[in-house]
Parts: sequence; structure tokens; C-alpha cells
Amino acid sequence: MNRIKVSQYNFVINLNEDSLLLYNSRNNNLIKLERDIYFNYVIKVSKGDVNLKTDDDFKKLHELGFFVNYNRDERGEILINFEKNKYCFDSLNLTIAITNECNLNCVFCYVNKENTYKLSLKNYKNIINFIKRYYDDYKIKNLFITWSGGEPLIDIDNIIKLSQEVIKFCSKNNICYEANVVTNAVLLDKETVKSLQKVKVSNVQISIEPTEILDSVSRPIKNTNESNFNNTYENIKNIAGLIPIVLRIALSKKNFNQIVGFAEKLKNDNLFFNKVNFALGPLHIPYLNSQLDYGILKDIFDSREYSKVYLIFMRSCLIKIS
Ligand code: SF4
Repeated sequence: MNRIKVSQYNFVINLNEDSLLLYNSRNNNLIKLERDIYFNYVIKVSKGDVNLKTDDDFKKLHELGFFVNYNRDERGEILINFEKNKYCFDSLNLTIAITNECNLNCVFCYVNKENTYKLSLKNYKNIINFIKRYYDDYKIKNLFITWSGGEPLIDIDNIIKLSQEVIKFCSKNNICYEANVVTNAVLLDKETVKSLQKVKVSNVQISIEPTEILDSVSRPIKNTNESNFNNTYENIKNIAGLIPIVLRIALSKKNFNQIVGFAEKLKNDNLFFNKVNFALGPLHIPYLNSQLDYGILKDIFDSREYSKVYLIFMRSCLIKIS
């Protein structure tokens, strides 16, 4: 019989006396189950008293990575994969800032908007030539492009034109191509999503604040003090289900307390988890920007504080929405 152990990447979040959430941070699997079931398996595993062949529930938990074969070195596998990926030239990931123009004026924006640009013909050709040269050198099998800005959808015509040429090159050379867009969603309606999907954009990352008040302070519409929150949220609701959505929220001391409420709002609108996911990160200022109100610096978490509040968020959010 195979010896089994508990994955060292399991996190148990107690929901009540009877049930818990079990999360594996290595593979991102999350399930809700009865406490007794999980802890009975933990005890059985320590005694070598489980059988993968005859116990279907345990087999499922093993397949999901909550229990692993005893001789697996999970941390070692992560380190090996990390090193392998560093020297793997199979794939090319590009982030293309198609324009530095934007329809918002976020207080923490680090994009230099002094001389506005859209993609020039010269840059267009340089990007295509760079991909071709990279393919000649490394015979890549995968190409992934992130369209960003400024606000990339301001220049959607160039995204589509450039994508079409890249897609043609990729299909001729058997390269898997995929893309995503990082956007503030001001212009992201259903038609735009459909146009993006035609050029293989497979998900959208939307930056947002968790409430209208915070949005009007941090991310006002350009040349106004008004918030675009309701329009952004409406756009998210309209396109949810059409394309996977990742909400990027820069966590700070100002918005942290509102995030769980925002997750509940998404849940009430039947959006959370199945259609919309979070990608949280700490608010940081990559370089100090001339239009920045330096008061914002006091709102930034240091890395220790951030790791603590992130854990608090994950726990309370998971409990409230489960
Ligand atoms: S959405 Fe905000 S952070 Fe992004 S480019 Fe526009 S102003 Fe800058």
C-alpha cells in the first residue's frame, strides 16, 4: 500500500463546528467539507490506514492534491519548476503598452502622460520583427501578449490590427497564441469584448476600487472629480460570463476594509468566483510621479503588513461568501 501524507500547502479555514474550507496554496484548489471527514483522514494517514484503491472520497482528495504520496518533495518540485522556467525559451510573454493615453486620472498612476503616443508604424514593425527574430532564435511554441497602457482600449484598432498580423505569423509557424487586456473597463462593452475575442483575447483584467467614494478619490474620470465606478461595475455585469474577468485591486490602508463588502456585492450579483476573480496586490508607487499627492505614501502597506492583511482578507472573505 502507498504511504500518503498531508500536503504541506494545505490551509484549513474553520467555518463552524461542523465544516471547514480546505485550501491548497500549491494548486489553488479550494473545497468545503465536514471537519470530521478531513481530520479523520489526517489521523488515518498518520497511521498508514487509508487505501486509495477502495476509498473514493480519499482518492478525490488525493487527486486534488490535499494528500500526496509520502516520498513527494513538494517544496523541491516548486524549486525545480522555478529553475526550469527561468531557462526555458519555449514561450515568449510580451506586455505591450499600446498607448499612454487614458480616460481616468488615478492618483497613483505612474504612466508618464506628458507626451501622449499611440502605436507608430515604426513601433508596429519593430514589434512584428522582434517576434519573428525571437522565433528564429528560439523556435518558441507559445506566445502570450498582454495589451496594456495607459488605457489600451483607447487604441483598440491598433490592438486588432497588430493581433491579426501576429496571429497569422503564429498559425503559419505552429505557435500557440493567446492574449489578455489590462483595462479600466470604461470602454469595455459587449461588442468590444466580442471584437477582442476574435483576436484571441482570452481574459480581461480590470482595475477598480471597491466603492464609489474611494473610486472618485483614487480614480477620477480625467479632468473631473467624478467616479466611474457605477459605469465600470455595470460593464463588468454585462460582460460577465462572456469572458473570464480578473479584478485587479491595489490594496492600501484606505480601501482594505471595503474589500470584503465588495466581494459580497459580487456574490449577491452572482458574479463572484464563477465569473469574476480577484487579483489583489499591494498598492505601490513604482517611481515617484510629479502629479502624485505624497500623502498617499502613508496608505501603503509594507510587505509584512500586507501579508498579514491579505491573509485576513482571504479568511473573512472565504467565510462570508461560502
Ligand atoms: S487607469 Fe489609472 S493607473 Fe491605469 S493608466 Fe489610467 S490613470 Fe493610469
